[in-house]
Amino acid sequence: MKLHLSLSLFFTAALAFSQITPIQINVDASEAPRRLLHATLQFPVKPGPMSLLYPKWIPGEHGPTGPIEDLAGVRMTANGQPIPWHRDDVNVYEFHIEVPPGVSTLDVVLDFISPPDAGGFSSGASTTSQLAVLSWNQFLLYPKDVPTDQLQYKANLKVPSGWRYGTALPIDRESGNEIAFKASSLTTLIDSPVQTGANFKTVDLSPGEPVAHYLHIAADSERATRITDDEIKHYRNLVDEANTLFGAHHYRDYHFLLTLSDHVAHFGLEHHESSDDRVDEDSLVDDDLRKVSADLLSHEFVHSWNGKFRRPAGLATPDYNAPMKGELLWVYEGLTEYLGEILAPRSGLRTAQEFLDTLGAEAAELDHEAGRTWRPLEDTAVAAQSLYNARSDYADFRRGVDFYEEGTLIWLDVDVTLRTLSKGKKSIEDFCRAFYGAPSSVPEVKPYTLEDVVRTLNSVQANDWAAFLNQRIESTSPHAPLNGIVNGGYKLVYTDERSDMWKTAEGARKAVNLTYSLGLTARDSGDIIDVHLNSPAFKAGVTPATKIIAVNGRQFSTGVLNHAIQDAAKNTAPIVLLVKDGEYYKTLSLDYHDGEKFPHLVRDKSKPDLIADIIRPHASVGRPSPGGPK
Ligand SMILES: [Zn+2]
Repeated sequence: MKLHLSLSLFFTAALAFSQITPIQINVDASEAPRRLLHATLQFPVKPGPMSLLYPKWIPGEHGPTGPIEDLAGVRMTANGQPIPWHRDDVNVYEFHIEVPPGVSTLDVVLDFISPPDAGGFSSGASTTSQLAVLSWNQFLLYPKDVPTDQLQYKANLKVPSGWRYGTALPIDRESGNEIAFKASSLTTLIDSPVQTGANFKTVDLSPGEPVAHYLHIAADSERATRITDDEIKHYRNLVDEANTLFGAHHYRDYHFLLTLSDHVAHFGLEHHESSDDRVDEDSLVDDDLRKVSADLLSHEFVHSWNGKFRRPAGLATPDYNAPMKGELLWVYEGLTEYLGEILAPRSGLRTAQEFLDTLGAEAAELDHEAGRTWRPLEDTAVAAQSLYNARSDYADFRRGVDFYEEGTLIWLDVDVTLRTLSKGKKSIEDFCRAFYGAPSSVPEVKPYTLEDVVRTLNSVQANDWAAFLNQRIESTSPHAPLNGIVNGGYKLVYTDERSDMWKTAEGARKAVNLTYSLGLTARDSGDIIDVHLNSPAFKAGVTPATKIIAVNGRQFSTGVLNHAIQDAAKNTAPIVLLVKDGEYYKTLSLDYHDGEKFPHLVRDKSKPDLIADIIRPHASVGRPSPGGPK
């Protein structure tokens, strides 16, 4: 399939933009610590009406998340004379100008106000006094009606004095704190963020190999950058395991941009030749924090193949103002989630038990969602652009971006089914090699449809894959698709013991998760995060966003609440909560006596242990040579 629609659809007859030379962009990030970034751009232009766009739909964020509200100081001139602009009154990301006769260069200056302590994705908090992650889409405009693959930009960047940096964007030359990049398409520029910081470290993940892989670490302290030799080995294994899984790659080189700070937004954002990975400051030096984010880099790395190289047609848009369609996110994100989760134990980033504990927790959560009966999984993908911002109250009734974890269950089911039908000869590896693999290439996009996925699955192992997948994504069954776990040799059970990963997650979140007993989650402060629909807590009148003050007359702590559940299992007295709701206090009685309940996966010896085979290391001894372009 071709990369984009016919170019003629995007060129207008009287285009005022003329790409003879690249658009020049100079970004001054030397004031990044005060959260102000400055840019100047020069556009080669022709006289006539012209429209410039600010990027709105950000790849990988699957929504209109371009932070237009933080764009400031926009001024346009030509030959030293001001050029008035006015904003489109329907698309507020669009600026209209009239280029006067005799003008061949348009000068634009603009500033970006980078937000403090804000959540979200790349438009969330991105700078501290010690570091910054610079996303080019935030500092530029581009001419309307030209596919972004066809636009050439030549970028210069100034970072704060003494700060080092990492990026996948090819460098032309550097001098002091100024970097001149090679000209690239706008697609590649926006796909190549720059991470910079005072406390900075680069680890070579494939030393001596023809294709380079780097882990760049920027942190709010030097101490936080102290990655252990074991962890370096695990990330080297990840490079080997992913290349073994796919059998080829589609990047020139690859850069993990790992940012460690408690004051930037936390997420991972995939790019073709890099990933923007942001976690707590102590994630390399605190074992609990390390465990909870141990599959982040594997997930984002998989996206270089699934999401960047192969992309659902509805998400492969010609420019950043064309709306995206998320209907196949259960493949884009769901299969990536599965592969990222199994690559973690294959690489040593997680133990087999940590993998099983995580999978069991995900399966239990999905299996208890009241929203399953009104909203099929496919609808969570279609509505993704709004669901990423959904609150956490009544989350099980709403259903959020379930296509991640339910994607894991569905693709585990696909993997186990391939193995079972082929009597062990075929697996998800065969699908990955056929769909994402050889030959290795430089970055390119090959869009796909559901029919392409089904056809490739059938080429691996004949089955009614269309019915298999449609049944799962269109289902309004009250229960989650657990066949991959069941036929993979495990059972989902509930006991009164927390798994180690459960304890780790509660500790890292500073919260207690009683979803399967009382039906609520609460912070260590007593603030109730969520209440499950029709749970014992719900039936007693407990509401999200209220606060537990006391349990059975004693001041709330998570320990007091846990002990109350244990004691209630031995008698008939209700658990009595004093709850603060706004300015009012109320006493609620929970008639619950079934004790503590936490999910686990346990081995079912009546079936072969396929999951053990799925998560064992697969890379052959010694580093594979995927070959291809550097
Ligand atoms: Zn993802």
